[in-house]
Amino acid sequence: MLSHRAAAKALRHSVRTFSSTSAPQADFTHAVIGAGAVGLAIARRLQQVDGARVVLIEKHGIVGSETSSRNSEVIHAGLYYGHDTLKTKLCIQGKDMMYDYCKRNHVGHMNCGKWIVAQTEEQMGEIQKVHDFAKSIGLPTRFVPKDEAKQREPEVRAEAGILESPTTGVVDSHGFMQSLHGDFEELGGDTALASPVTRIQAPSDGNPDYKIWTGSMEPIPSSPTPQTPEQSAVSEDDSFITTETIINSAGLYACGINNMILPPERHRTPFYAKGTYFSYSKSHPKPSTLVYPAPTPGLGGLGTHLTLDMAGRIRFGPDVEWVDSPNDLAPTPNSKRFAAAIEEIKSFLPGVDTDAIALDYAGIRPKLGRLSAVSSGKGFQDFYIEKEEGFEGFVNLLGIESPGLTSSLSIAEEVYRLLYR
Ligand SMILES: Cc1cc2nc3c(=O)[nH]c(=O)nc-3n(C[C@H](O)[C@H](O)[C@H](O)COP(=O)(O)OP(=O)(O)OC[C@H]3O[C@@H](n4cnc5c(N)ncnc54)[C@H](O)[C@@H]3O)c2cc1C
Repeated sequence: MLSHRAAAKALRHSVRTFSSTSAPQADFTHAVIGAGAVGLAIARRLQQVDGARVVLIEKHGIVGSETSSRNSEVIHAGLYYGHDTLKTKLCIQGKDMMYDYCKRNHVGHMNCGKWIVAQTEEQMGEIQKVHDFAKSIGLPTRFVPKDEAKQREPEVRAEAGILESPTTGVVDSHGFMQSLHGDFEELGGDTALASPVTRIQAPSDGNPDYKIWTGSMEPIPSSPTPQTPEQSAVSEDDSFITTETIINSAGLYACGINNMILPPERHRTPFYAKGTYFSYSKSHPKPSTLVYPAPTPGLGGLGTHLTLDMAGRIRFGPDVEWVDSPNDLAPTPNSKRFAAAIEEIKSFLPGVDTDAIALDYAGIRPKLGRLSAVSSGKGFQDFYIEKEEGFEGFVNLLGIESPGLTSSLSIAEEVYRLLYR
């Protein structure tokens, strides 16, 4: 739980050089809510500012145990998200920053490239669109000639064509987050683990700072508009801190934090798109590159694909299943969905031994509607990263789904820019 001990520790820093219009009596200059990859990167970036005193508040007893550790660990190239979107801008910047960070800090990563495969003329049309878009923004992609494809990955089937993205890769997400957390703490940042935020009071007349209460109980996760706990339910003595600015990077629960701060007409409703993964226990076939199907316009994800982890193990997934709760994390043992995933896998890897494919784990994409993950088709959902009007110092991050891991370092720069420029 976040206690006055954390605040008192921070108050021992005697010099305040952080410049802000807020009165200088807050316990912290910045409170970052949520210690996933994005919150960790933001906390680290803000703690680099002269005089900053950042507290990173996390409801679990460890960092990075939600969506940031339940994904494909792919360093995306930025191929799918269209012109003039935050996802494209931050993914491309974030990818370069990620490779650079991993090299400098010895974080496991692999620039293994990726193939997007088309089985039909219609799918070929989709990957041609991806290629045209990539060309238009200067991202490298190329069509792989059939004979080259046969020689490099004889096991991969692509009846109509293959588009290769050489800058795509894979990262050890746990190693990456541990490294970010180490940087943050070395810079003097405070981490408050096991501290679910239960209530937030925005600045008001005579009260220039944000006040954040934490509890030992989980916040109501599935409620789009969590109830503000009754005063009597919150112990004012031991469980709040004050902060000049607040950054909401609570992932699947970010709408709940949004709704604790903003008035009812600005409340948001979360949507959840679960993705189940499948393990593969055989060592054959074993491509050395990632393999994705052609994107399906309007789909909430990128299609059941083949990824590799840092140990070279294959996994398949994730599919897309709309669920009602962010806690619905057990991989779905639904025979229809399993059969559909197997069909998709067999379409690009016909030699796969389907008996060796088993349910593995699941992750949930934080969505702001039943919206698409790719820009082709209707209803594309971009990242929402805004300094909220009328709430000085509140930076709100919503819908940080894929490519949020890839973009984490550039999202941190974006938050820094919103606060300081
Ligand atoms: C199936 C799937 C596959 C994906 N694949 C990729 C990929 O290959 N490449 C890629 O770049 N991205 C991928 N992503 C996206 C990526 O995983 C996310 O964008 C990224 O992990 C989001 O990080 P985050 O820090 O915003 O959220 P999270 O990791 O969810 O962290 C939020 C944190 O906030 C904490 N929190 C919540 N509420 C509170 C509260 N009230 N008080 C205190 N703490 C709180 C949570 O405990 C959690 O630790 C994928 C996502 C999914 C679901």
